[in-house]
Amino acid sequence: MHNVVIIGSGCAGLTAAIYAARANLKPLVLDGHEPGGQLSLTTHVENFPGFPDGIMGPELIENMRKQAEKFGAEFKSGAVTEVDVSRRPFRVSAGKDSYETRALIVAAGASARLLGIKGEKELIGHGVSTCATCDGYFFRGKPIAVVGGGDSAMEEANFLSRYASRVHLIHRRKEFRASKIMIDRAKKNEEIEFVTPFVVDQILAPNGVVEGARLRNTETSEIRNLEVHGIFVAIGHDPNSTVFKGKLEMDGNGYLLAKHGSLTNIPGVFVAGDVQDHRYRQAVTAAGSGCMAAIDAEKFLEEHKG
Ligand code: NAP
Repeated sequence: MHNVVIIGSGCAGLTAAIYAARANLKPLVLDGHEPGGQLSLTTHVENFPGFPDGIMGPELIENMRKQAEKFGAEFKSGAVTEVDVSRRPFRVSAGKDSYETRALIVAAGASARLLGIKGEKELIGHGVSTCATCDGYFFRGKPIAVVGGGDSAMEEANFLSRYASRVHLIHRRKEFRASKIMIDRAKKNEEIEFVTPFVVDQILAPNGVVEGARLRNTETSEIRNLEVHGIFVAIGHDPNSTVFKGKLEMDGNGYLLAKHGSLTNIPGVFVAGDVQDHRYRQAVTAAGSGCMAAIDAEKFLEEHKG
């Protein structure tokens, strides 16, 4: 029997683990299918307070994990396959393993969205990628495309320009959702070419690896073929909330609903991070909400002793 099980080991889950561990609750953290969450897939983080020169995402997340371990948090790998929050203690299953817990913190994060076009999924690892940090190196000296118009797309395009011979930034509108500083940086980068307003209609991979993309102008319907060896999809994320369907309240997009900080419709179940936040989605807000969830869980356990 655990005091607190934390689902997710990104910024929110690890901050919750640090707080819960320091409160002597010996939390168990279930890593999930993307250990370390999105920070572990990013590069230079410049806006996390306390790092005037920035810090690499994987290093930041590793530091948080060490900090949680130092205070007694336990980690188990494996993605959660089932939860039963209909009665206490709650039960959480990850494959064959099953855990009972008095309180539960859901910090399962959000996962990269795909374009939903033919062949895309099958070509992941063969030219299609959702992680520039992971795969950029494979495209040294080759032309690539980044799809999206948010901060992620700008960041990935800038990062990939170190490796690729040319980065085509494909976005479906002429206006960008990204912040001005990120757009300006990408625009100043001579390796990046903005291709708007275009969508990828088809991935060209006659030999099982990406060799190009067929683009369609969203205003004129003009078709254009582009020679690229990599297509980096950076069009946002979906919350990892499927296992909670019908169990925890969520909005129409699957984001869990948090009330009064981290509370859910089930007493003893708390939420933190991107699985409940489609508005801010920052490392620092995820960390803050992880802290709130741990404090709420601690209070709950105190009030429901015995
Ligand atoms: P986002 O802001 O939601 O942007 C997603 C982009 O993808 C939008 O431009 C959207 O186009 C486009 N898109 C969505 N679905 C598409 C589809 N099916 N086909 C083509 N294009 C599609 O997501 P994000 O860029 O991942 O950023 C998420 C959050 O993380 C934001 O709050 C961002 O500020 C933050 N972030 C910050 C940093 C940083 O500060 N270093 C880095 C990365 C992310 P439309 O604009 O037309 O809807």
